[in-house]
Amino acid sequence: MIVLLLGAPGSGKGTQSQRLIKRYGFKYLATGDIFRAEIAQKTALGLKAEGYVKAGKLVPDDVVLEMVAGRIEPGGQYLLDGFPRTVDQAHGLSEILRRAGTEVGLVLSLTLSSAEAIRRMSSRRICSNCGEVFNVISRAPRVENVCDKCGAALIQREDDSAATAEKRLMVFELQTQPLVAYYKGEQLLKEIDASGAPDAIEAAIAAEIDARGKAR
Ligand code: AMP
Repeated sequence: MIVLLLGAPGSGKGTQSQRLIKRYGFKYLATGDIFRAEIAQKTALGLKAEGYVKAGKLVPDDVVLEMVAGRIEPGGQYLLDGFPRTVDQAHGLSEILRRAGTEVGLVLSLTLSSAEAIRRMSSRRICSNCGEVFNVISRAPRVENVCDKCGAALIQREDDSAATAEKRLMVFELQTQPLVAYYKGEQLLKEIDASGAPDAIEAAIAAEIDARGKAR
């Protein structure tokens, strides 16, 4: 099954994705993670995306679609996080999946107030080495500013700074919210309240996935 996770930045898409990968064995495609890795490695794709990502703007659809098309294999069970972000990307995804002989099976929309999304983004820290995500309020590392997994330093994502986080939320409302209506129309959308504890959110998501059929 192909499952999409939609939600404002800070709504917990990354955290839930890690849980769902363990639970169902999905292959995981997080466009934001891919861009951050490509930017760090200074690849051609990274150079194209860098200015947009740092400013909290969306990378142009053609760049994103080309990147995703090269990463979807026929027959794979995928969890897509942070993609699509626009209705045009959704159309592009349908085409990519059609060519791979599959289609979107379920779209989960994590809902959260803007105030809570900003609070979560500003308290988020990521490992500068392995990318593990922490939160100084809800998931503090054992040692301050040190990754529990690999011992490297934790940093704040540049685009999680207050001004850029607000900008990303605005972009989300303007460009990504219309996707909710689009997938509702396609009868694929399920809304999940993302304000609670991670275990409760995971259980709500798993109930929807199980209702649609096993993921592998
Ligand atoms: P994220 O980690 O999902 O919050 O994404 C971080 C940044 O990467 C976004 O603010 C965009 O600049 C870029 N990005 C990630 N996914 C997409 C996408 N599907 N379309 C356009 N830009 C994206």
